[in-house]
Amino acid sequence: PTLPLFAAAQQHARDPQKIAVLDTTKQQSFTFVQLLADAAAFKECIVGALQLTDDLDERRIAFLVPNGYDYVVTQWAVWAAGGVCVPLCTSHPVAELLYTIDDSDPSLIIVHPAFEKISSALCEACPNIPFMALEPFTRANAPCLPAFVPSFPLTRRALMIYTSGTTSNPKGCATTHENITFQASCLVKAWEYSPSDHLIHVLPLHHVHGIINGLTASFLSGTTVEMHPKFDPKAIWERWQDHGSSTMFMAVPTIYSRLNDYFDTHIRDTDKEAGARAGAQALRLVVSGSAALPTPIKAKFAEITRQTLLERYGMTEIGMALSCGLAENQRIDGSVGWPLPGVHVRLTDKETGRVIEDADEDGMIEIQGGNVFREYWRKPEATASEFTADGWFKTGDVAKRDAAGAYFIQGRASVDLIKSGGYKISALEVERKMLALDGIQEVAVVGLADEEWGQRVAAVVKVREGAALELPALRAELKNKMAPYKTPTVLKIVDGIERNAMGKVNKKTIVQKYWPDKA
Ligand code: ATP
Ligand code: MG
Repeated sequence: PTLPLFAAAQQHARDPQKIAVLDTTKQQSFTFVQLLADAAAFKECIVGALQLTDDLDERRIAFLVPNGYDYVVTQWAVWAAGGVCVPLCTSHPVAELLYTIDDSDPSLIIVHPAFEKISSALCEACPNIPFMALEPFTRANAPCLPAFVPSFPLTRRALMIYTSGTTSNPKGCATTHENITFQASCLVKAWEYSPSDHLIHVLPLHHVHGIINGLTASFLSGTTVEMHPKFDPKAIWERWQDHGSSTMFMAVPTIYSRLNDYFDTHIRDTDKEAGARAGAQALRLVVSGSAALPTPIKAKFAEITRQTLLERYGMTEIGMALSCGLAENQRIDGSVGWPLPGVHVRLTDKETGRVIEDADEDGMIEIQGGNVFREYWRKPEATASEFTADGWFKTGDVAKRDAAGAYFIQGRASVDLIKSGGYKISALEVERKMLALDGIQEVAVVGLADEEWGQRVAAVVKVREGAALELPALRAELKNKMAPYKTPTVLKIVDGIERNAMGKVNKKTIVQKYWPDKA
């Protein structure tokens, strides 16, 4: 069958003016007609470079291309050629790129001229893999190629995205065309993407958030994607301020925190304030995910923009699984909402595997549905061990459900569930409560091995400018907010908390860094 994304693009291309991508680096718009034509042309180059007569037959093609139209054309050309896309992270150092290249075993590496320097280092390290320099696509008018419709079994692998590597080495997650179409379609249904939407896209393009939620769902539904090379709070506020056509924005909590800070320091009490607030308020949908959204960030953003951030939960292996609703009363603080259409979600007891039906009981999140990935690339044991005997994918995350069926993420079972003195404590819950205190800007709560208690609750804190914090005062402040056994008994003040590209904190590294003997 025709690849669904291309079939959809052909529909959108019936309107020859319909814009698929607005590339802010090139300062140029590209229609669906141009995208299909450029993908078809570049596909020929890729197949030619590999000296193949047939299709790529699931060969992996790795590419290092900045966020923009060239990225999209490259991705579509690989799909049109029957290959598997392995998008490389544009901010990774060479060593990390080599990890992905080595693991994914690509037949070809495509590099944009912006990365010439890195390219020669990679070339040297991988003498047996052909490299191809990408000619940027800047044509104003695409030639009229005959309608081009790639057609392959949808059970073919399409994409290999590496997990964020928060808990161990990143794992390559292979997903099929069926998987990615499913992942994107359930978001289109739930969030009602439409051809009249215009998404401002600032996220990295080597993770599901940027690739599926940002690009794929948009192109499937005819939403125009305005691609920024990277996140810059000034550019976003300016963009919102001039209203324009922007209707959607998606990001991780750290980005919202930076937008809030930028507003306070550069926009509040200036002549730009009213315009900026009004512009942001005019957005149709603003989404947060990839890490827990701290309530103070959400509240502050709402104060500035009157937008209630919509939080959702997902992971590389499954795309998105849970999401708050479009209706204002379905965006509950601290909750990631309900299962997306077609995605099955259950909670099970960590020890016994019993399915939990009751409200307010902690359980492991397990997922079933067309969104679930095919396998960890060349890791059959890892794949097998992450599925239950009855075929559910084990996310490794813990959640509870309230009486209305809304889910509340408690964190990763491996690091965020702290066991102290016989109690189970959610690090995420303690973090949320601590962030509500005035002096605390950032916090990571971890468990430290302890002979007496099993584990102790420790907090790593970055305080706000001018604030000071000591353990007795912290404990006193938290006294009426949480049970005493949850309150941190160890406090470490730091200058900043290290996060990866998706705003995630590696808790194991934090423990190793500050308490190497307690890891
Ligand atoms: P690795 O699997 O390599 O350790 P990772 O799990 O961080 O890395 P991703 O697949 O990018 O890699 O991230 C998925 C994880 O992000 C989820 O398992 C969950 O722990 C976390 N996450 C995503 N969205 C949310 C959210 N809204 N609230 C809390 N946690 C979230
Ligand atoms: Mg993971």
